[in-house]
Amino acid sequence: MKPNFIQKVTNWGNYPVVEKEMKSEDAIEKIKDFVRNNNEIIARGNGRCYGDASLSEHIFSTKRLNKFISFDRLNGVLECESGVLLSDILEVIVPQGYFLFVTPGTKFISVGGAIASDVHGKNHHTEGCFSECLVEFSLLNENSEVITCSRTENAGKFWATVGGMGLTGIIISAKFKLKNIDTAYIRQESIRAENLDEIFKLFDESESWTYNVAWIDCLQTGKNTGRSILMRGEHAFKHELPKKLQEKPLRLKKKNIPTVPFYFPGFLLNSTTVKLFNFFYFNKQKSKEIKNYVDYETFFYPLDIINDWNKIYGKGGFIQYQMVIPKENGKAGMKKILETIAKSGNGSFLAVLKLFGKQNAEAYNSFPIEGYTLALDFKVNSKLTKLVEQLDAIVEEYGGRIYLTKDSMSRSSLTGYLKNVQNPKFVSLQSKRIINNI
Ligand SMILES: Cc1cc2nc3c(=O)[nH]c(=O)nc-3n(C[C@H](O)[C@H](O)[C@H](O)COP(=O)(O)OP(=O)(O)OC[C@H]3O[C@@H](n4cnc5c(N)ncnc54)[C@H](O)[C@@H]3O)c2cc1C
Repeated sequence: MKPNFIQKVTNWGNYPVVEKEMKSEDAIEKIKDFVRNNNEIIARGNGRCYGDASLSEHIFSTKRLNKFISFDRLNGVLECESGVLLSDILEVIVPQGYFLFVTPGTKFISVGGAIASDVHGKNHHTEGCFSECLVEFSLLNENSEVITCSRTENAGKFWATVGGMGLTGIIISAKFKLKNIDTAYIRQESIRAENLDEIFKLFDESESWTYNVAWIDCLQTGKNTGRSILMRGEHAFKHELPKKLQEKPLRLKKKNIPTVPFYFPGFLLNSTTVKLFNFFYFNKQKSKEIKNYVDYETFFYPLDIINDWNKIYGKGGFIQYQMVIPKENGKAGMKKILETIAKSGNGSFLAVLKLFGKQNAEAYNSFPIEGYTLALDFKVNSKLTKLVEQLDAIVEEYGGRIYLTKDSMSRSSLTGYLKNVQNPKFVSLQSKRIINNI
């Protein structure tokens, strides 16, 4: 018989899959006991990181830390436990005329996960990472004490924890600022770029837009390398919306969300199907430019419209490879990366390019540095390790780094940028892999 709480655990990429102890508690004394009695603990939010960052010998799931604590409607400040999901927060705040300052490409992550990865959105160049709106949080540290961390109290721990990938302790609750919105809609412009030169020019021209993101067809070669669609957006004001949407500008209709019912067979996703997807995606936009209004879910969370979409990669799983290349080397580095991927035939049908603004020097553990970031999904197969090695070498050559929250196999020279997080209590499979250079 397996001891209690040992179970199969994996994150969004379904790779790796491990059998480890996973416990969830909501009583603080019980959580303290768990920390006191174990080593090699890591907190896990909603498992939306792709690789092994929230896996360890002893996993503390924050699923039961799911309560709202306070909502200051006048000043737009929310306090909640760390396991509360951004999706739950949006349901409460959007009808009250508020939105998250920073949100990643899925709303199904916890507040603890947002802080520990110091997540970024489509607005890093204008509004930075999640830590920018963070007022304070409480942290259960390696001595099993709960401490408050802010810019003025335990500031050292505050800055080590944002982007610290859970290695400084368990975040129990957090307080953060929200932004005012007039409507739940975004004024969006989608523009086709035929190649890398065009898309970089479009990013330059769009720097004053709050939100920017591009989808890239990463299987194109030669003069078409970097063929893409840029989407830029601003929160819409009520008066500019079409009349029908002005009736209830802060309410969205409930959508029916389909679910992928089972793991797709491995052969279904191959270079031909990925090529076809890319062809249809690019060509569905017939004109050079489309201007319209879309609801915030369509703009920020296009992938959330299908539950369990990760199953399309089959039981072997997939990885997400996200790197950033400093701005001055951006175009040359991206060109080499895209050429290497196209040559490998290991296509990614989700390839997303974003622009990062200047790094906040205080948030030294956060991934974003000023430059271009590309996120690519690859199905796990026998050729993947070689491709990752090739991509790693290019990222290193151009002075870039890899996003830890997506990583499960990159080399330590690119992922080992965390500081002030080493202690034997809080260790993840990822931090062990990086330290031991596995
Ligand atoms: C479809 C999709 C799109 C995404 N888009 C983006 C994006 O645009 N930008 C971006 O930045 N990220 C993006 N991500 C990644 C995701 O935002 C991060 O991985 C996030 O940290 C996941 O949060 P989680 O609650 O699922 O935490 P988990 O995945 O369980 O854990 C992630 C990390 O947070 C730590 N952690 C979680 N909770 C706590 C806690 N209470 N205390 C201490 N540490 C904790 C874990 O130890 C681990 O290191 C995306 C992920 C998906 C699946």
